[in-house]
Amino acid sequence: MSSATARQKEPGKDHKILNGRAVGQSIREKVADKVAALKDANWHPRLVSIAIGAAEPAKLYIRNQRRVADKLGINFDDRHYGEETTREEMLAAIAALNADPSVTGILIQRPVPKHLSIKELQAAVHPLKDVEGMHPASIGNIVYNDLILGPCTAVAAVEMLKATGLALPGLEVVVVGHSEIVGKPIAFLLMSEGATVTVCHHMTRNLTVHLRRADAVFVAVGKPQLITGQMIKPGAALIDIGINQIQAEDGSSKVVGDADYETCHDVAGWITPVPGGVGPVTVSILMRNVAKAAELQKRHYEKQYGEATFVADA
Ligand code: NAP
Repeated sequence: MSSATARQKEPGKDHKILNGRAVGQSIREKVADKVAALKDANWHPRLVSIAIGAAEPAKLYIRNQRRVADKLGINFDDRHYGEETTREEMLAAIAALNADPSVTGILIQRPVPKHLSIKELQAAVHPLKDVEGMHPASIGNIVYNDLILGPCTAVAAVEMLKATGLALPGLEVVVVGHSEIVGKPIAFLLMSEGATVTVCHHMTRNLTVHLRRADAVFVAVGKPQLITGQMIKPGAALIDIGINQIQAEDGSSKVVGDADYETCHDVAGWITPVPGGVGPVTVSILMRNVAKAAELQKRHYEKQYGEATFVADA
């Protein structure tokens, strides 16, 4: 991906803005080809989405995921389970999906009710169907430099940095936030690309000291305006993963990232907007994982039962 793809190319447009819609679109074009090839081989990728309880915040994501899946020719099966569904019932439902060869990907929507552990449910998904890249095996593979099914948000954020065209070997990168699903995998993915990575968190003594020498900054914390323009190095790439709902001056609510967009935009060389930055790339990476998982399972079944024996036609 060249920087020209991500930057808005039209005259008069802001060339600092890393356009997630353009990056996402170019990923989806390749996914569409892969899905078509799988279908030609009678292997239909089928993604099962599991939402448990009211899951109001997930509704918008599910609608968007279905729209993207439909466009790519991926079968999207949207399942809802009641708020009272027990741990045992959920684990049994996941086990049944694991055993069903027509299901090629399983996606667990967040949040889940308090009596369930998202981590346990995620670990119950078969690693070959783990399209979110959240299974401990998927996370562990990153440490071994083996990006089979990577965690979607982390992979999407790294794709955004690649879209700048900056050379990653030796690049000074600071990652702010070290959660298991975002910050830590970003750090490992970047290390495997040869970047020099510093990871900051709430105990970091002086965040600005680290940020001021970074060629690229990733921020995934969930605190609006945590990063301001004066904290970053002029010309740096700023990849903002935060999603925060705040109240605008007119009382309406709006979504912002973790960076103070106005001041950071003045100083940065590249910046991802929120919304419209990492978010649209994340759903494209999810669909890329769906195609990849289907391909891996096709190979697995062929190895086990022979090429002509198995047809997954959802
Ligand atoms: P999380 O699990 O709550 O982790 C937040 C991280 O930020 C923790 O590692 C925490 O470190 C660190 N932190 C807290 N206060 C800090 C401070 N003052 N300075 C530096 N680091 C600090 O959150 P997450 O799941 O990683 O998500 C982070 C953000 O990304 C959220 O806004 C979330 O909505 C967003 N997100 C976006 C996408 C997307 O597709 N764009 C997907 C997932 C999440 P300690 O543990 O040391 O406190």
